[in-house]
Amino acid sequence: MTQILDGKAIAQDVRAEVGIKTQALRESRGIQPGLAVLLVGENPASQVYVRSKAKACEELGFYSLVLEKPATITEAEVIEQVRTWNADPRIHGILVQLPLPAHIDEQRVLLTVHPGKDVDGFHPENIGRLVAGLPCYAPCTPAGVMEILKRSHIETKGKHAVVVGRSNIVGKPMANLLYQKNPYANAIVTICHTAAPDLTRYTREADILVAAVGVPEAIHGRDLKEGVVVIDVGINRIDDPTAPKGTRLVGDVHFESASAKASAITPVPGGVGPMTIAMLMLNTYRSAAGEVY
Ligand code: NDP
Repeated sequence: MTQILDGKAIAQDVRAEVGIKTQALRESRGIQPGLAVLLVGENPASQVYVRSKAKACEELGFYSLVLEKPATITEAEVIEQVRTWNADPRIHGILVQLPLPAHIDEQRVLLTVHPGKDVDGFHPENIGRLVAGLPCYAPCTPAGVMEILKRSHIETKGKHAVVVGRSNIVGKPMANLLYQKNPYANAIVTICHTAAPDLTRYTREADILVAAVGVPEAIHGRDLKEGVVVIDVGINRIDDPTAPKGTRLVGDVHFESASAKASAITPVPGGVGPMTIAMLMLNTYRSAAGEVY
């Protein structure tokens, strides 16, 4: 029997716990967690993400600020806005929705966010702390994967985890989280990318396979071993004339063939996806409570 890892339910649990802790924080110390989001331009996907983040804040009783600016905003103005929020005591988390327009240097902007308010975990200080195993904000999507593994009681210690993808947002922090020396990680990690001459050589060896490839259904069940745990981070919209809207969402793993081999697998949608915002809320709470810095 393949276990379907229900990220939607786990994300709801995380959010409910953050809600309870938030209420306690307000009652005991008079602190309301605050998240500020800067949205530049009119990217429809970014608008959807930002709306979901604001809604999650509202549900949890966070102070939430969404500032929308036209794509013509200058880099200096974006940096100035971030600095204003760095100094604002009502704001515990700052999020600059990516991607930014081409004339703005994303790295310069991300470097401006105070590491103690960097709830996305993209600042080099948080990346360094993550690698060193120090308290930090880990990027929300890979942190969400760790939470799914932990809450689903999946043994990671000594297992061979193969991460396909090395982006700064998913693949690299994922690998770093998996090999940390703590009871919920401690895996032996391989990280794959496009220079792998034969990807299947690695995927076939995986006890835990994390797919963050950005290619629809790139990993097939025939390239996995029996009993593997499959974590599919991918979110891809593909054409499907049989679907009501003519499209449907698929992951980076071919679900049907992979679930025939796997002992446990995350579906798409409803797997890793919902964890990202839940972990963002948790990070913002942790910042407000002073748990990290
Ligand atoms: P990127 O495109 O930034 O990175 C993809 C990585 O996969 C790269 O490192 C690339 O290698 C590697 N890769 C691509 N093709 C192959 C291949 N054929 N063989 C081996 N490696 C390959 O994507 P992201 O990391 O940002 O996102 C990955 C997926 O996760 C996407 O589907 C995205 O939609 C989804 N996602 C989901 C989130 C969520 O909330 N659940 C959040 C963020 C992303 P190289 O470095 O050599 O180019």
